[in-house]
Amino acid sequence: MVLNRVGIIGGGQLAWMLRDAATKLNIKLIVQSPNQNDPAVSIADHVIFAPIADSFATKNMSELCDVITFENEFIDLPELAILESNGVKFYPRLNSLKPLLDKFDQRSFFHGLNLPIPRFSLLENEADLNHDLGYPVVLKARRHGYDGYGTFIIKNKQELTEIWNRYNSPSMLLEEFIPFQQELAIMAARNIQGEVICYPVVQTIQKDQVCRQVFVPAQIPDSIVKNVEAIAHTLLSKLEYVGVFGIELFLTDDNRVFVNEIAPRTHNSGHYTLDMCDISQFEMQLRAVTGLKLPETNFNSSHSVMINLLGYETSNSDYQEKRSQIKAMSNTYLHWYNKTESRKGRKLGHVTILGNSRQELEKKALEIESIWEQN
Ligand code: ADP
Repeated sequence: MVLNRVGIIGGGQLAWMLRDAATKLNIKLIVQSPNQNDPAVSIADHVIFAPIADSFATKNMSELCDVITFENEFIDLPELAILESNGVKFYPRLNSLKPLLDKFDQRSFFHGLNLPIPRFSLLENEADLNHDLGYPVVLKARRHGYDGYGTFIIKNKQELTEIWNRYNSPSMLLEEFIPFQQELAIMAARNIQGEVICYPVVQTIQKDQVCRQVFVPAQIPDSIVKNVEAIAHTLLSKLEYVGVFGIELFLTDDNRVFVNEIAPRTHNSGHYTLDMCDISQFEMQLRAVTGLKLPETNFNSSHSVMINLLGYETSNSDYQEKRSQIKAMSNTYLHWYNKTESRKGRKLGHVTILGNSRQELEKKALEIESIWEQN
């Protein structure tokens, strides 16, 4: 059966970036998203305007699609499970997503697979404030966190108590702080037939828990690349996963790797693939969920850097002047998500620069940041 009408739950920039791949593969995109201004509204063949967790809307969408996939995790899994049991095809399958949507469940799942992870515990009542994870400790919302919202690095018990109380003492995840030397990520995919591919391991650089830059490839020993790829293979096969996912990891000074989390979808750390690779993570996602082959990727350069353009003010500016300056730089590709409103920390676009060395790209990344941040 040909699966060429793909439904996407979520209409943000990750859905918007499916556009070229869908055209190339002759796939129709049907998007479920709440607002007229959401980035993917402009590229969809059809839009169902509804909140992400509105499963009634997803049911309507399913009548227009052969398969439904996801752009974010803010879904109502039990409601979607009713649709799946009535024959609606979701890739990844809902069973693959089940252990991943809640950060505590994800940690417990990794633990069950003996994957290397930070020590963790639940914070549910006053007694749990006396955890044995030491300080600093990392406090995380179990669901609906993204771009560092919902993640707190906490210095002492007093701060922990304050922040937990500020959020009305919900059930939260506590985990050991890993003093990492660098943060790594990998994008990997598995298709319906079980074929698997991995993109290179990259280094991600965050500030205030938000990803700012991604350098490709990470400068790490081969043994660590192999280790990260093995983790990706284990997770894809244990989850019987269909689609693309991103894994974020920590690497310590003594070369130990810890899994931070899986994002069960295309991911910011894979945006470089749009310009550096002949098959982007977005094409790989569509290929995986429609049962096409997953070819090995060819690269347009040996190195690249991706820089997120984050909002730094509340404004309706489209930053035309800054965008023109960035576009004028050589080997530089600007992706602007056409959001109508800028807010502090909001991802408005990204830039990828292709190059021949890490050193060259570090310099260019600084140039981009100074253009972006100048007044
Ligand atoms: P989100 O899902 O919002 O991206 P993450 O759990 O990935 O949140 O955390 C965001 C960032 O916070 C990470 O990229 C890392 O810089 C930091 N962080 C998260 N967990 C830990 C940890 N256990 N030890 C040290 N730093 C952490």
